[in-house]
Amino acid sequence: MKYIYEQIQLITQYRYLLTLIQWDMETEMPPAAQDQTASAVSFVSEKMYDVMTNDAFISELEKYETAEETSQIERKMIEELLLDVRKMNRIPKDEYVEYQELLNYAHAIWVKAKAEADFAQFEPTLTKIIQYQKKLIEYYGYEAHPYDALLNEYERGLTVKKLDQLFSLLKERLLPLLKRIQTSGITITGDCFTTGVYSIEQQKEFCTWIAAYLGFDYDAGVLKESAHPFSMSLNKKNVRMTTHYHENNLESSISSTIHETGHSLYEQGVADFLVGTFLDEGTSLGIHESQSRFYENIVGKDIRFWEPIFPKLQAHFPDQLENISCTEFVQSMNRVQAGPIRIEADELTYPFHVMIRYEIEKMLFEEKITVSEIPNIWNKLYKEYLGLDIENDAKGVLQDVHWSMGSFGYFPTYVIGSAYASQFTHIMERDIDMDEALSSDLKQILDYLREHVHQYGKSKTADEIIREFTGELFNPEYYIAYLYEKFSKVYQLSE
Ligand code: ZN
Repeated sequence: MKYIYEQIQLITQYRYLLTLIQWDMETEMPPAAQDQTASAVSFVSEKMYDVMTNDAFISELEKYETAEETSQIERKMIEELLLDVRKMNRIPKDEYVEYQELLNYAHAIWVKAKAEADFAQFEPTLTKIIQYQKKLIEYYGYEAHPYDALLNEYERGLTVKKLDQLFSLLKERLLPLLKRIQTSGITITGDCFTTGVYSIEQQKEFCTWIAAYLGFDYDAGVLKESAHPFSMSLNKKNVRMTTHYHENNLESSISSTIHETGHSLYEQGVADFLVGTFLDEGTSLGIHESQSRFYENIVGKDIRFWEPIFPKLQAHFPDQLENISCTEFVQSMNRVQAGPIRIEADELTYPFHVMIRYEIEKMLFEEKITVSEIPNIWNKLYKEYLGLDIENDAKGVLQDVHWSMGSFGYFPTYVIGSAYASQFTHIMERDIDMDEALSSDLKQILDYLREHVHQYGKSKTADEIIREFTGELFNPEYYIAYLYEKFSKVYQLSE
């Protein structure tokens, strides 16, 4: 076992370095440092590959997997490690390193293509990334559908079959609600977030404060800026997150900060004894998104949360918010308005953005479409699902960073996470006085999530967490009920 812990220590060090480089690339790195950074990434990736595919390591893991003296937590650790090392072993080393290099350059190519709203510039790189994904599918293997192999990387056990069912249910139930809102005669705008100039310094001060107010520990984390907000964890004592500030949009920085804080609270809340076991991180992307979207939407758009702190926000923007009431402010946050950008979408149209990406990825891996056809299909689906005409590639197919990072199969976790969040909230409302918690004691909510989700890290799977927390399996009805209840109220729809 000592040997296994030594190897974990090595893998942890390499992962630390890779994560730190990635953080630097997204936040501070000057463009001219691209080549040097790429070569550092290749160097460390290769080292990590060697440790993970070392025969002696694998046979030790296999030996202790079933050994009697192996504790329960070690068993889990070995199980997780074996999944990773067996997968890594199927990828030839030269292909692995070459791919890491490709991804390094892909980011910059995507940034430029997006800035110039020109998919054609990104197409050759994207084609290469997809070719590699297709190889991965063969290496990883699948039972029913090739795309399952990729979905499983982000949410274990997630399949096309399950997602087809979920998405057709959501389509069937949510489209009528969306129609009713669109024909309700009630229009809620987001004008209070966009009239005037909101000083970036003031936004920064408020966002820094609100993260701490939610429970973010600045002794064990930082909040910085990047073009696309994200969070990552080096370990629970070193959690990094970013947000972005726009002078003409107050809403974006606040909701991004709250969202990323949700991710960070999860990472900071993993139990201490899991550090160094390979299990000291969020268990799945779906559970991760359940935490971020819970804070962003269920906490961060609730009037009970805003009432006590709205005067503080007003004090930061006395001129802009002088004549806005807290009720109007929160109502604006909850407006439903189909738009082309996923990260700015309201809660009700959000799942449709994800479905569009899912449909496209599925078609790609079924070999039904080619890469060059993606923009047209994208625009066609936006028209079909949300009635929108897409102005250009920057506001369409190039808007998300994910494909440039090789993250195929990732998007569905956003909807899965939102649905988990509603299911968790249903139980939370039974155990906690939400009026009191939201208005004056957020720690109650954090402690509750720590107890039922955060502390376990990867020592429990997503399915285990859901079952033990809620007493049942994943059930999307809670999500649908939540959306109906919330938006019927916002738009005064009668039963
Ligand atoms: Zn997120």
